[in-house]
Formats: sequence, structure tokens, C-alpha cells
Amino acid sequence: MKIFYSDDHKLHAPKQELHRGQMISPHEGAHRMELLINGMKRAGFTDFNAPDTYDLARLLGVHSPAYIEFLQTAYGRWKAAGYAGGVLPMSYPHRPRRGAPPKDIDGAAGYFCTSSDTVITQTSWECMQAIANCALSAADHVSAAGGASFTLTRPPGHHAGADYMAGYCLINFTAIAAQALRDKGAQRVAILDVDFHHGNGTQDIFYGRDDVFFASIHGDPNYQFPYFWGHRDETGEGLGEGYNMNYPLPPGTPYEKWKEALLAACQHIQKFGADAVVVSLGVDTYEHDPISTFKLKTPDYLDMGASTAKLGLPSVFIMEGGYGVAEIGDNTANVLLGFTGG
Ligand SMILES: [Zn+2]
Repeated sequence: MKIFYSDDHKLHAPKQELHRGQMISPHEGAHRMELLINGMKRAGFTDFNAPDTYDLARLLGVHSPAYIEFLQTAYGRWKAAGYAGGVLPMSYPHRPRRGAPPKDIDGAAGYFCTSSDTVITQTSWECMQAIANCALSAADHVSAAGGASFTLTRPPGHHAGADYMAGYCLINFTAIAAQALRDKGAQRVAILDVDFHHGNGTQDIFYGRDDVFFASIHGDPNYQFPYFWGHRDETGEGLGEGYNMNYPLPPGTPYEKWKEALLAACQHIQKFGADAVVVSLGVDTYEHDPISTFKLKTPDYLDMGASTAKLGLPSVFIMEGGYGVAEIGDNTANVLLGFTGG
């Protein structure tokens, strides 16, 4: 299990988040990484490798040029307009959007965003490049050597679409890794999203494609963010019809029920004939996660890893969510331990 890590995660550290009617200190921040690293070290994972540096063109495979330019310039435009704090839009378009992004940065920010928990700071773009480098390094390592890799990274990415940010996510690192595997020769790549929340951005990016299969196990969107994606009848479109599977589950779901969805998703991945798999690894399915409602326990994550290993595929694990409690590190490490048979 080759692990990639960059200290530059600290460059993205918004100071506030709009959460259930209040401006609060964000659930997603650098403090999460301390918890993750502590848990990983407790489990014996200590070899954290710096990523290689990649050209911006590798990012553009899954994100639109207009969105990348927006991320690069948004904070400067926000400050030039005299606005306070980080970039946090107030107005959102009806979707699908019509016309070009507005000239005003507040309007442009809304154009490229779907939720008000996602903020761009002065150095967010530099952070995104560093974490994208980790995702590309993890994918390229598996392409060259087989086996498995893991990005010990934050923030998460699976809510970011080709041209929008959402749910703490600016760049979709899972999608970048999946595309990188394709670019290096894998004919068919599966994405298994086990984060508590539906991976709407990843789904959107690959929705019309038959070379990347997406499966997500998550809280029922009738009750949970991202609310407007993640239903069972979202199965892909055009060429991609049948290559998107959603497993929404009710509040309070315990591991026994969750695992039934996992086994069903793994069966589909095998039927698809994947050459490699990218796991969107969120551990906010944990029973004490502060923003989620599933009831998984720490030992369950060992079984999750072992069950994923039964696919027998080269695997890239991309860190997604998991919040607020010290166990996020132990739970993450347990998935990797279970996967490696440790
Ligand atoms: Zn999540």
C-alpha cells in the first residue's frame, strides 16, 4: 500500500461554514489531517510519500477550462471587488444554467457552485494542485506497479463536478485518478464511493460514459446532502446508460445492511469487467460522525477493506469525508489493513 501525502493540504483552510442556519467553524479543516495521521500511525502506516508534480493538463481531463480559470482567479477577483472573507456565493442559477458566467465575482461564484459550505481562500488553488498531484501519483503508481495506493489527503473531492464546487470539494480527485488509470491503459475503470454522502460530482463527470462505472452507497438524498442526486433511478445516460448505480440507504443503517449494498456494488463491478478500481474512501459512515447518520463501528472498516480486496483489482483509495472524532484515523487505517490482510 503506497501512501501519498502533501503538507500543502494546509493551504486550504476556510475559517467558516454555513451549517444549518449558523456560521460555524468548518467541519472540514486541517485538524482532520492530525486525526487521520494519528490513526494511520497507530495502525503502523508511517511511510508517507511526497507526490510527483504534474502538468495542469492532467487536471483538465475531468474539469472544464472555464472552471479551472475561475478557481485560479476567484479569490483575487473577490478581494478586488471589496468583498470580505473567502469566496462564498450568495446567488445560484436555475440549473441547467443559461449563458456565460456573470462578470461580477459573486455571480460567477454562484455559477460555479451548488452549496454554501464551500469556500475558496487565498491559497486554495495551490492546495488543489498539491492534492491533485497526490491523486495522479497514486493512480500512476498503480498503473505501473499494480497493487494498491492511498492518498492521505484533504479536503474531499467527490462533490465537485466538471464545472462546479460543492460540499467542501473544489477539485474531484477521485475522477482525476480514474481518468489517469484510463490514460495509462486501463480499458475499464470502476469507482466505488463508500463515503456517507452521494458522490454527485463523480457521477456527473462520468454519467454519459461506458468506460468508467460508478457505484455509490450513501445516505438517502431525501434526508441527506447533496439532496438532488443519488436516487436509484439515476443509471446513466446515452452511452453511459447502465454504468451508474446508486444505493441510497435510510438513516440509522448498520453495517450488516450497508454490506449488502457493498456486495451488490462489487458484483456489478465484476460484471462490468473492471481493470482497476478507485475507492472514494469516506469514513463518515461511522456511528459517531457529527454530520452523518449511519451506524458503522470501527471493526466494520476492517471487513469493508477485506470485502473490497475480494475484487482482486489494482486499487486506488482516495480519502474523502469523515469528521470530528479521533476514530476517523483508526477507521481509515482499518479499511487499508482489511484490504491488505493486515
Ligand atoms: Zn461525506
